[in-house]
Amino acid sequence: MDEGIEQAATLLREADTAVAFTGAGISTASGIPDFRSDGGIWDRYEPESFHIRRFHADPDGFWQDRAELVAELYADVEPNAAHEALAALEQADLLDRVITQNVDGLHAAAGSEDVVELHGNGGRVACQDCGRRADAAPHYEAVRTGDIDGAPRCPDCEGLLKPDVVLFGERLPMAPLNEARSLARTADCLLVVGSSLTVEPAASLPEIAADTGGALVVINLEETHVSGRAAVDLRASATEALSTLRARLLGD
Ligand SMILES: [Zn+2]
Repeated sequence: MDEGIEQAATLLREADTAVAFTGAGISTASGIPDFRSDGGIWDRYEPESFHIRRFHADPDGFWQDRAELVAELYADVEPNAAHEALAALEQADLLDRVITQNVDGLHAAAGSEDVVELHGNGGRVACQDCGRRADAAPHYEAVRTGDIDGAPRCPDCEGLLKPDVVLFGERLPMAPLNEARSLARTADCLLVVGSSLTVEPAASLPEIAADTGGALVVINLEETHVSGRAAVDLRASATEALSTLRARLLGD
């Protein structure tokens, strides 16, 4: 791995624009399971329960199940060494932006700024009528404890609140996707971390970067479909690889 890390460090140092693109694999060390892995959370929950159809057909039941899922998945989660390493690289001007497929908010919690969130952020809710966004935690708490009966409503307009995430069956919001594509095109180096790159359209971001001359650094436990095009292709955990990269670049 050391040789790959050395090469990755050189690419980051030399890049005018360096961007990180992260997936579920960066948050597993924080205790958030990758729902695609065997024995994962979706062996116990039915994906259909969190489908946009269910939200529209049965918002009260949806919110009950979602509140349970959130309590199980996200209680007391904190950023790990991989999130912290990316934030430190950004702080040192070696990384420009982070694009993530995750909804856990851990990049921002670690200190990354203006994170491009392709699938939204589970820490927020959005009013389906007026668009108002707010902290999700009190709403989950109210549903769980039975303080409110059914789905939470907007304090401004009484509209139905929805977790501000892309549910099964929903399209990705265009604004962050366009921003991510633009970043991929301008990146001299795209650091792909902990994503199996199986879900479109996010999966094609590394292709866009490579097609426009960006060097790919892939850090993932398993091979990805762009591994063959990568300047550096590491089979490693996000925490191990990024901690080593951080130490190499910043000496801490
Ligand atoms: Zn509203």
